[in-house]
Amino acid sequence: MMNLREDIRNIAIIAHVDHGKTTLVDELLKQSGIFRENEHVAERAMDSNDIERERGITILAKNTAIDYKDKRINILDTPGHADFGGEVERIMKMVDGVILVVDAYEGTMPQTRFVLKKALDQDLKPLVVVNKIDKETARAEAVIDEVLELFIELDANDEQLEFPVAYASAINGTASLEVDKQEENMQSIFDMILEYVPAPVDNSDEPLQFQVALLDYNDYVGRIGIGRVFRGEIKVGQQVSLMKNDGTVKNFRVTKLFGFFGLQRLEIESAKAGDLIAVSGMEDINVGETVTPIDNQEALPLLHIDEPTLQMT
Ligand code: GDP
Repeated sequence: MMNLREDIRNIAIIAHVDHGKTTLVDELLKQSGIFRENEHVAERAMDSNDIERERGITILAKNTAIDYKDKRINILDTPGHADFGGEVERIMKMVDGVILVVDAYEGTMPQTRFVLKKALDQDLKPLVVVNKIDKETARAEAVIDEVLELFIELDANDEQLEFPVAYASAINGTASLEVDKQEENMQSIFDMILEYVPAPVDNSDEPLQFQVALLDYNDYVGRIGIGRVFRGEIKVGQQVSLMKNDGTVKNFRVTKLFGFFGLQRLEIESAKAGDLIAVSGMEDINVGETVTPIDNQEALPLLHIDEPTLQMT
């Protein structure tokens, strides 16, 4: 039997702009703090990027990690804008499930279609959150019909068509599985994630494969590759190979590893299959490249890159 990492869930959150992704994730963060311990959460957690503030739209994906019922839920934010299709696609490859947020009044919009298609194409099973149920103009049931129609138009398979639905008011921090009542908190969404999103496969006894899906930079450690450990284990101090996009190989020593918690990035000593992490130690690291053991250099398939903002050379 296949071993699973029952201790984690990796999901992406997708939506048309303004349907409430940021508000929902902020609220999940706050509530997990309440369930776990009282932790101060910065307002507008996911909108911390300056460029993003200027543009008013989410353009860079951000990671958030939440602990709930002894499980770590990694949540990747996604840009909804079609210019970032490559980034959305790469994020879809790092996760095992997605939450599709749809405004209870506006219903499905062009970016809903765009991001949902990316998720369905990766065989992910979306969970649907109909948000802003508090609005007087909310028409949740009609919106669910629209969502179903969209799934069908986008050729969703039978499993994907059986999406679970939660109705939420992210702004009030409430949710429910029933359309005509709201509970006091968003526990139904947390539980839906644990129930419907598959736990990652634990093949940590196989040779390491870590793939860079996003890049970051920090003055202190330099360039950072963010991605998923698909196989094996990675440790600080380990000598590894970087399988470059141009077909060459460079060896380096892992200087630091970071895991995510809340909105912070915390240093960790090791990570294994299923974990979403950040790796430093190699200045010449790029999106799509695979980190492997020196004696087992097997690259993962290339990733789609289409946006100039991530070519930080
Ligand atoms: P994003 O672009 O998907 O990240 O959307 P935001 O989270 O920034 O929300 C867009 C707007 O919708 C903001 O003005 C929020 O305050 C508002 N909003 C978010 N959730 C709700 C909700 O549940 N009810 C209502 N009435 N407004 C909401």
